[in-house]
Amino acid sequence: MEQKIFDCAIIGGGLAGLTLAIQLADSGCTVILFEKESYPFHKVCGEYISMESYSFLERIGIPLSSMHIPMITEVLVSSVNGNSLTRKLDMGGFGIRRYTLDAAMAKLAVQKGVTLLEQTKVTDIKREGDLFQIKTAQGNFSSKLACGAFGKSSVLERPLGRLTAKSAGEKNYVGVKYHVKTDLPDNRIELHNFNDGYCGISKVDGDVYCLCYLTGSENLSRSGNSIKTMERNILMQNPFLQRYFTHSHFLYDEPLTISQVTFKRKSQVANGILILGDAAGSIAPLCGNGMSLAMHASFIAAPLILDFLKGRLTHQELCMIYEKQWKEHFSKRIKTGERIQHLFGKNILTNAAIGTLKLFPKLADALISMTHGKPF
Ligand SMILES: Cc1cc2nc3c(=O)[nH]c(=O)nc-3n(C[C@H](O)[C@H](O)[C@H](O)COP(=O)(O)OP(=O)(O)OC[C@H]3O[C@@H](n4cnc5c(N)ncnc54)[C@H](O)[C@@H]3O)c2cc1C
Repeated sequence: MEQKIFDCAIIGGGLAGLTLAIQLADSGCTVILFEKESYPFHKVCGEYISMESYSFLERIGIPLSSMHIPMITEVLVSSVNGNSLTRKLDMGGFGIRRYTLDAAMAKLAVQKGVTLLEQTKVTDIKREGDLFQIKTAQGNFSSKLACGAFGKSSVLERPLGRLTAKSAGEKNYVGVKYHVKTDLPDNRIELHNFNDGYCGISKVDGDVYCLCYLTGSENLSRSGNSIKTMERNILMQNPFLQRYFTHSHFLYDEPLTISQVTFKRKSQVANGILILGDAAGSIAPLCGNGMSLAMHASFIAAPLILDFLKGRLTHQELCMIYEKQWKEHFSKRIKTGERIQHLFGKNILTNAAIGTLKLFPKLADALISMTHGKPF
């Protein structure tokens, strides 16, 4: 039997891959989406989505307004010594578990006609002539175009020639996430600094709170690779975190963790494959907007892909225009995030910064708004 050639193959069913698949299927394209896990599943993520994505999600068919999700309108930031600043969020956001959102999107994608292969890890991808050949343990597939939305780290970095040597001073981070029952206003996100890290906490659907932190991997090795020891000795030096860790009900026996998180600059096109989401470049999580960036990239890519499939753009033009538009939209925000990330987690600096921002609250508002984009 002759092998089916899909219009577009998407590797990775996180927010970038799923939203792209839905938009392309809506426009009549044949789409195959590969996801190595199976839905629903949890992910290490703070689960705060900035409002810039709200109307986009509703437009593509995720009925957020009837999903009983908390709307977040203020932020509290604390320094390591517990000095804190509270500000209203101009744009704000909402809280939803990835367990809920990714699964709802996967269901919608299938309803729209996307061929979704779960528990299917892509191990190699090559361009041969005008087609892309995608290799998985479950078989090989062909498509006219391929998109990589495989997140921060993937076995695909090597075949795509993007595995760069570790540069001097490059930091590795560890991410840890819990769902907890605790007491915190529903409309507030809190961001608490500790030595070499920060921890966010805010409400999500299902009447629980997401407590998620990112820290330099040295903190873990210094704690004998014990998360509990690290939390007790390092995170709980911040009085807010001391209270959350000792007075909350933790819903999992063990937290969800990821290691070897880096914030390297990445390319948006590799071997003719369009790269989206964290795989194309990620913003520091404390800016809370990686998910919006991932979805916004799909919103940029979808109409360009349609132009290519309809013969209005060559493949080379598609790659060039996508890369240019990606940089125009996101490069500045990612750089701002990098600068703020350097400041966070440093005892003296955050103590001083919170003190200064309390005196000049408009400066705090300006910093916050630089990390949030416009609705799309
Ligand atoms: C600690 C932490 C906290 C964060 N908090 C927030 C927050 O509060 N708000 C926010 O907006 N952002 C936050 N982020 C960032 C956010 O999680 C990411 O920006 C977002 O998930 C990116 O979406 P994505 O689709 O690019 O990747 P992902 O959501 O990571 O999806 C990639 C998918 O690809 C799959 N995959 C990988 N390789 C393969 C393969 N070879 N074959 C098949 N499938 C594959 C993976 O299983 C995964 O499902 C946080 C990140 C961290 C680390």
